[in-house]
Amino acid sequence: MHIEVRGLNKSFGDFHAVKDVSFDIEKGKLIGLLGPSGGGKTSILRMLAGLETPSSGDIVFHGKRVNDLPPQERGIGFVFQNYALFKHMTVYDNVAFGLKVKKQSKEQIRERVMYLVELTGLKGFEHRYPHQLSGGQRQRVAFARALAPEPQLLLLDEPFAAIDAKIRSELRTWLKDLIESVGITSIFVTHDQEEAIEVADEIMIISKGRLEQKGSPWDIYKEPATPFVASFIGESTIVEDLSELKGFEHASSESGTKALIRPEYIELGKPGEIKLVSATMPAVVKHLHFRGSEWMVELEVGSTKLITYRSLEKDVLHPGEQVNVLLHRAYLFNDSRSWILENP
Ligand code: ATP
Repeated sequence: MHIEVRGLNKSFGDFHAVKDVSFDIEKGKLIGLLGPSGGGKTSILRMLAGLETPSSGDIVFHGKRVNDLPPQERGIGFVFQNYALFKHMTVYDNVAFGLKVKKQSKEQIRERVMYLVELTGLKGFEHRYPHQLSGGQRQRVAFARALAPEPQLLLLDEPFAAIDAKIRSELRTWLKDLIESVGITSIFVTHDQEEAIEVADEIMIISKGRLEQKGSPWDIYKEPATPFVASFIGESTIVEDLSELKGFEHASSESGTKALIRPEYIELGKPGEIKLVSATMPAVVKHLHFRGSEWMVELEVGSTKLITYRSLEKDVLHPGEQVNVLLHRAYLFNDSRSWILENP
């Protein structure tokens, strides 16, 4: 289903929770609504679902304005973080629920349920009750149940939030494949940037009720539209005084300009190792932190600035050591504009 949202606003009393949000979603895309807690993601999802009435704006599905349609007439499937399965029903009956409501024949229901049970990897579990399943399995039942009545749009609110890290990661890949194979337009809410980047075709970054940016994960990462997006997506360090940042000093002529630097922009070498070009800066290794699969290295450049660099090896660098640093790229911003500058 193709979705258009125009000038969407939502106020709760005096509180303006969603502010003039507009976007288009192409049919079949998997979209991540990403942003900090309280930003308005769930409110947007609930308005799309018809569970909340917009204060103003239009919601258009397939060229038809649906603002006044009740949820059950919008052709939507939902999955929430807390499973919300019917506890007293088996897997089979949970998945069949929406089909019984539609008054389909027993045979039709059986065929559809068995297809979905197979599709979601739950074959053999049809007669179990929710309490006899793991968290990940329960969430797969929730997907099967949501997909059963063949919705045109799937809305997912933090679907993996209640599941532990390892299973969550498996489920993400599983969900992406499942949605691709079914070809259904889907929108999921998350506050986990890694999850959004890994799963979504496109991400919408929502903060303080506003849509800050919409685009593919890679485009957003590479070309953030606002300082908020730049600091929210990916690792970064903000440098306030640019005067000692070789290659970027001239940017400090615009007052209040700060630089956001990602570890990937930094090339680091021991004296003699790195090609000494004019933009190379001396730096001192301050700390090394182990992150499970990589080392984060804090560097001091000049008198105050700390830049973080990522390294896969442990014993190559030591605190107190002198190194050379070449900064390839920085995201610069001040009160009036933001831009990306590269070191030639
Ligand atoms: P989270 O990730 O924590 O769920 P979110 O981005 O989904 O956050 P929303 O749940 O949409 O944010 O909430 C946005 C703001 O609107 C919050 O400040 C919230 O307190 C407020 N809000 C949401 N629903 C209501 C309501 N029914 N009445 C009053 N305020 C509400």
